[in-house]
Amino acid sequence: MAETSPVLREMIRERLGAIMTNPLRIPNVTCEICTGPVAPRYTRCYRCDRDARRGDAPVARRVIPLTYAIVGTQADRDMYRYKDPMPKAQRLRNPSYQRLLLLLLGFARAHASCLDVVASRPATGVATVPSLRGRPGTHPLCTLAAVLPEHWNEVRLEATPDIPEMQRREARPEHFTLPDPAAVAGKHIVVLEDTWVQGGHAQSVASALLLAGVAEVSIVVIARRIRTDFQRSLVEQSLQQILTDREYSVDICPVTGRHH
Ligand SMILES: [Zn+2]
Ligand SMILES: [Zn+2]
Repeated sequence: MAETSPVLREMIRERLGAIMTNPLRIPNVTCEICTGPVAPRYTRCYRCDRDARRGDAPVARRVIPLTYAIVGTQADRDMYRYKDPMPKAQRLRNPSYQRLLLLLLGFARAHASCLDVVASRPATGVATVPSLRGRPGTHPLCTLAAVLPEHWNEVRLEATPDIPEMQRREARPEHFTLPDPAAVAGKHIVVLEDTWVQGGHAQSVASALLLAGVAEVSIVVIARRIRTDFQRSLVEQSLQQILTDREYSVDICPVTGRHH
């Protein structure tokens, strides 16, 4: 755990307090992997449980969302608007982009080192989930990733072309290839993704890394998207806690869910 400067803490409270929502890590209330809603007495949501049990491809068990993005709220709109096509100078002034930059900066300063405490070895690299629809130029997520710790070396992956969008939602290692597996063998690599709906893209990257010899993968997700209509009657109690109004604070650890 690192010290958060009072200036950064104050700025985060002012700019993100009313918009972002710290994910909850409460056993049997939220999914122990993705922090999404679960049915009473369940430890994982349906999708995470299915992916974790599948024997044919390994997936990451450590998923760290920095905020919830509840459908229809400003946080959810931010996840689309930050990457709207626009010139670079305009993006730097875009409020959605600025909020996500601040959110990721707060994580990098206050909690990136928390990953080293819970893992078997310190994180030394980061792979940003490459855009699957061939998009020209640098993806805004890669620009945001510049605030992550400098000692996290960039790990490059290539998206396998011509895989239908429906199939992309499944966690499949063959969706990505790793040009230089020797550089990451035995290491702890962070996968950075912007939005988690069911986790297919990020888990495909994690799976490709683990099969290539990476020892540990932690997935850092800017936002865990929450639909309030999906299986509502099943997950009602969990959803109520997720939707409870509370001010976002950088002092709540996204890795452990505890205050520090
Ligand atoms: Zn889950
Ligand atoms: Zn922490």
